[in-house]
Amino acid sequence: MQRATEKLYKIFKLEAEFGYANKAVVGGIQKLIDTWVSEARADGLSEDKIQGVIAILNRYASRDVQDRVKSLRQIGDILDIAGIKNLPEPEIVQKADEKVVSRNKMKQADEISAPKPQQNRGAVRRKTDEPAPIPAAALPQGLSADITAVRGIGQKQSQLLEKLGLHTIEDMIYYFPRRYDDYSELKLIKDLSYGEEVTILAWVKNLTSFTTRNKGRKIIQAVVSDDTGSIQLMWFNQEYHLRYLRKNMFLSISGKVEQYMGRLVMYHPDYEQVDQEQLNTKRIVPVYALTAQLSQRWLRRSMYNVITHWAPRMPEFLTEYILEDADLMHLPTALQEIHFPESLSTLKNARYRLAFNEIFLLQLGMLQQKLEWSNQDSQRFEASDEWLLDQIKQLPYKLTNAQIHVLSQMRQDLASGHPMNRLLQGDVGSGKTVVAALALSVVIKSGSQTAFMAPTSILAEQHYSSLKQLLASGENPVLEDGQVRLLIGDTPQKERQEILVGLADGTIKLLIGTHALIEDPVKFNDLQMVIVDEQHRFGVAQRAALREKGENVHLLVMTATPIPRSLALTIYGDLDVSVMDEMPEGRQPVKTHIVYPTERERVYSLIRSQVEGGYQAFVIYPLVEQGDNDENKAAVEEQIRLQEEIFPDLKIGLLHGRLRPDEKEDVMRKFRDKEYDILVSTSVVEVGVDIPNATVMVVESANRFGLAQLHQFRGRVGRGSEQSYCLLIPETNEEAENERLQAMESTNDGFVLAEYDLSQRGPGEFLGTRQSGYTELRLANITNIHLIEKAQHYARQVLENDPGLTAQEHQLMKEAMEHFWPSDEGDLS
Ligand code: ADP
Ligand code: MG
Repeated sequence: MQRATEKLYKIFKLEAEFGYANKAVVGGIQKLIDTWVSEARADGLSEDKIQGVIAILNRYASRDVQDRVKSLRQIGDILDIAGIKNLPEPEIVQKADEKVVSRNKMKQADEISAPKPQQNRGAVRRKTDEPAPIPAAALPQGLSADITAVRGIGQKQSQLLEKLGLHTIEDMIYYFPRRYDDYSELKLIKDLSYGEEVTILAWVKNLTSFTTRNKGRKIIQAVVSDDTGSIQLMWFNQEYHLRYLRKNMFLSISGKVEQYMGRLVMYHPDYEQVDQEQLNTKRIVPVYALTAQLSQRWLRRSMYNVITHWAPRMPEFLTEYILEDADLMHLPTALQEIHFPESLSTLKNARYRLAFNEIFLLQLGMLQQKLEWSNQDSQRFEASDEWLLDQIKQLPYKLTNAQIHVLSQMRQDLASGHPMNRLLQGDVGSGKTVVAALALSVVIKSGSQTAFMAPTSILAEQHYSSLKQLLASGENPVLEDGQVRLLIGDTPQKERQEILVGLADGTIKLLIGTHALIEDPVKFNDLQMVIVDEQHRFGVAQRAALREKGENVHLLVMTATPIPRSLALTIYGDLDVSVMDEMPEGRQPVKTHIVYPTERERVYSLIRSQVEGGYQAFVIYPLVEQGDNDENKAAVEEQIRLQEEIFPDLKIGLLHGRLRPDEKEDVMRKFRDKEYDILVSTSVVEVGVDIPNATVMVVESANRFGLAQLHQFRGRVGRGSEQSYCLLIPETNEEAENERLQAMESTNDGFVLAEYDLSQRGPGEFLGTRQSGYTELRLANITNIHLIEKAQHYARQVLENDPGLTAQEHQLMKEAMEHFWPSDEGDLS
């Protein structure tokens, strides 16, 4: 076959795969004409034949599918090419479906007589130039079919794909490219010039190798050419290229253009075999994340099979109204475009649509959850002004306005008859514990039980002693000594038994502990309120499990991670949010300074003078052990150095991530109990342990940490009434200009820093990845406030009109939401 003819044949085959939707060529098949005609003439095809082909191609777009097949077959006759003469009928579906369909034959027969409404909707939405749908009843099953149902994916490949987390056809559809190679602006070989970095597309014309005489180097040479010229590629001592490269392979080649003996060459270029057909149609090519033994080319092919077939069949779950009003791309098109984009602008729209999906479904789920909760009945807990004021009066300090405000919000929640679902955000040291204690006291005084969960034993112990102090001491304590207990991993078996009994018979009114609280044997008699501290350290399931220990319990979750409002909306859409943005009076703000590495001695003398005054210091380093980067201070080595060379007379503890959890807690406990003057640590120290006696926080290589972490470190000091210091030592003097360090110096306000960090770097830092729903977001950047607000607007609108999503037009939406929020995860808070 001549080249021009072969090209047509390949494109027509592709067109057949598209169901003759005129999609094989960007802009339609008629766009082929110009380039094809010159190639055909170069091939020496007769002018008669050329004109015949042109006439048919010109009318192709305006014909219906049946006529399109016939007309292409006519071209087969003109050119006398059997493959084109015998192009397949449009109805012939891929092998993938045959399998799927036959697997589900039984089901299908039932459903065809009584089609679900959604299936018709899916069909209605389809644009006319997209292929006719397969029987809609096969849709849901087809999507969850094993990937081996796809042509070309057998047992071996499916095992590899499973390593990428791909099990079903739907998984593949939602496996988005990592990036794209844009071949829409390629260079032709004739236009290359010396010194450029380029990517070209070319065929391998010649392949040789030889060994040089003087140094015995093995040289591999390939001549590659496109229609405009040729260029030589060269590799030294890399024989594996010979195993991979073959004559007539079509490659995308990237590298720098150099000269060798007056001719252009590329030394050690990168290359990849590409599919010519695909490039003819789509010039922006997806690049997927791979696993060993899986080639990009193969995966791309398989994806292409899946996407071209399935994307048009994916049911649209948004209503016509939302699509229109929010100006969103149709789902099938978006899925097609995100894998095989027509252009950068359609790709952008596709990404936007799919990101909208994520936020929308996230919001829909959370708002619905919130609605559901607010409709449930809970026990009412009321406290008179008099009683509450009396409790407050007994505190050794005056509450801040923020504390009073939050307290009154919680008081309303408790008295409402519906479960409290509240997030309390307050910067480190803002005094969340006492507010929590007051809320607990309202419930406890009515004789009900409460629980308080913290992420580590040492934190639980800390809360145990402060809550005991607040609730079980003084004039009229709400609790007697035995009514508050601590349950952690280390609690001895005998005591544990005692606690279980006390919980079951209702004598224990407040149980404080770690995740030991949610373990199975723990059963309450009448649990009514649950508080979770440092909630970002717990998973969704753990919080749900604690909530399940009672019935419609009042829930308060607390976090010291300041989250900008926009984000709080997304992540905690199911909760009411309270913010404590005020520090207790008399607290001296921590003085923060950036110190040049050359001035480290001054830091040491500050540490010494503070320790002599009876206080303690933290010194933080970024890594556990010294890596290949010598400038990087390592906690382990530095502890030795500080101990031996700088502070031989002081006691220095060491804390790092390689210690077991109990070892870590042991070190923290010793530091708390003043067995150490200085604690050298890696970033593991950041959890909210209260060591009021520590007044110095030194952060070495400070430029390596993110703002959120730096702020958390700083929060470890300044918890007492003495002046505290945070000293940030960057790795180099130049790094002293580091914007994050400057920001730390300029404010102590966590919310200001959070907003700043968000605007600079996105949400990663200020959020754990374990936030509910957050891990489901593949595309949405949750800093995109505009997108969040838009998605939330429509989610609210939908629920306002149809809270249970029972309307006909919301059935697909409901399914999509349930799919997004797998039910086995419990509730969302
Ligand atoms: P966080 O919000 O970080 O959990 P804590 O509840 O541990 O903060 O409170 C930090 C310290 O501030 C505790 O020692 C607590 O006794 C004290 N504190 C709390 N509220 C006030 C207040 N209104 N005035 C003075 N000190 C307070
Ligand atoms: Mg706290």
